[in-house]
Amino acid sequence: MADLTAPVYEVTATKRRPKTFDELAGQEFVVSTLKNSLQSGSIAHAYLFSGPRGCGKTSAARILARSLNCEKGPVQGPCGVCDNCKSISAGASLDVIEIDGASNTSVNDVRQIKDEVLFPPQAGRYKIYIIDEVHMLSNSAFNALLKTIEEPPPYIIFIFATTELHKVPATIKSRCQQFSFRLIPIETIQEILKKICGETGIEAEDSALFWIARESTGSLRDAFTLFDQVASFSGGHIRESLIREKLGLAGLEKINALAEACAAHDTPAAFSLTDTILASGVAIEQLIIDLAGYYRGLLLLKNGVTRESLLGYSPDQFSAKVLESLDSIRLEQALEILLACYRDIRYSVSPRFELETVVSKLSWLNQWVSPPELKAALDRALYALNVPEGGLARPLAHGTKPPGTLVPGDSPPLRHKPERQGKSGGQSLAEEYRRMLAEKSRPADLSNGGASDDDEEPAWSGIIHNDNSSSSNALQGDVSPGGESPVDRVLRLIPGTVVN
Ligand SMILES: [Zn+2]
Repeated sequence: MADLTAPVYEVTATKRRPKTFDELAGQEFVVSTLKNSLQSGSIAHAYLFSGPRGCGKTSAARILARSLNCEKGPVQGPCGVCDNCKSISAGASLDVIEIDGASNTSVNDVRQIKDEVLFPPQAGRYKIYIIDEVHMLSNSAFNALLKTIEEPPPYIIFIFATTELHKVPATIKSRCQQFSFRLIPIETIQEILKKICGETGIEAEDSALFWIARESTGSLRDAFTLFDQVASFSGGHIRESLIREKLGLAGLEKINALAEACAAHDTPAAFSLTDTILASGVAIEQLIIDLAGYYRGLLLLKNGVTRESLLGYSPDQFSAKVLESLDSIRLEQALEILLACYRDIRYSVSPRFELETVVSKLSWLNQWVSPPELKAALDRALYALNVPEGGLARPLAHGTKPPGTLVPGDSPPLRHKPERQGKSGGQSLAEEYRRMLAEKSRPADLSNGGASDDDEEPAWSGIIHNDNSSSSNALQGDVSPGGESPVDRVLRLIPGTVVN
């Protein structure tokens, strides 16, 4: 039979729940403002705490309640030993009423509050209502509440907490003193975890604590939960390698190797590495998440971000080969492919096939051309067809002006340039290009007056689709004095194309 007298294991999140404002991590602005208002005695009748989950809203509400009702109070730091402080801590105070907005959403629940507020507090100075997840209240409940917070009895204080501020009606918001809680920085979480390790005699690698802090994405509660989970199987020594093994994570070395294979167009190696990683027990979704995190890190790194907490790893841990071989546009595309794959995977016939397709695409990333690059290449091609190498620009037919921004040998900038150069600009360039190629492909004796350009399919379609050998040949045959056909000149200008 179980020993009921044995001490119950208390989870870290409960054990470490902050009891004073000074213990509230990562919310310096909120804390200093609340402390100031307590000191100056300017107590609001309604507070609204908003912010992501697990960052201290409910804890702050309870600390505020104790600060207000402490026998020494209202004080910045509740004493923690008076009857009021103790009873609030134990959740037994009749003057502090905690309501979960998620399960008390109806207007009747709020009506009950309206009736209760008529009775003054029993032991404390104030009667305090803490309503968690207040955005879950129904519209009629909000309306009923509105009248109460507009003209409350002087001893009533409401503290609302919400993770979804945009769902709280403006009429409620405008009557509250608002505080927005922030995600807790990774460094702060890591420090707190380190402190816990020191206090509990657990050894831990810095990289392992960093990983826990990173995974908790700014929520201290999540960090504590993950820490407990990791500590339970670590036997007093928390190691990153053990975490990876137990939780089925790919690990940076394997991801680096996979990304290097992809960057080197070594598709067989990339497929084989994918198989090895999956065989080691890493879930497909997890590998996609890890890869997405990796390419995101590279993208940030490429753009000058070096903060480890933002990158997920320290900059020198990323493969230099991969970083060198891919530019920002290709890295964006890699991230997009991975994010799309994660979105689609739940509807897929085979998640594994999806992943392998992505790995294959990543292996050809250097060949991928973005639409703005293609547009720029076509613009350059159009210009090249009309300007002989080293010569003056041939006047374009139909009185069209040549693209003024382009100079031979000077590629137009691909990024940070308005993609549309005015309605007529982009349109006429494409039209001009199409018409010109069509003219060039037409044999000389047939290109007389009779037929207009719109009557036949333009010859460039044969080039693009590569399914019309005759017009393609016609173009190939039209060789410029330099020995290069217009098609070669066009192809040479498109990134990733090799002209023989
Ligand atoms: Zn007290």
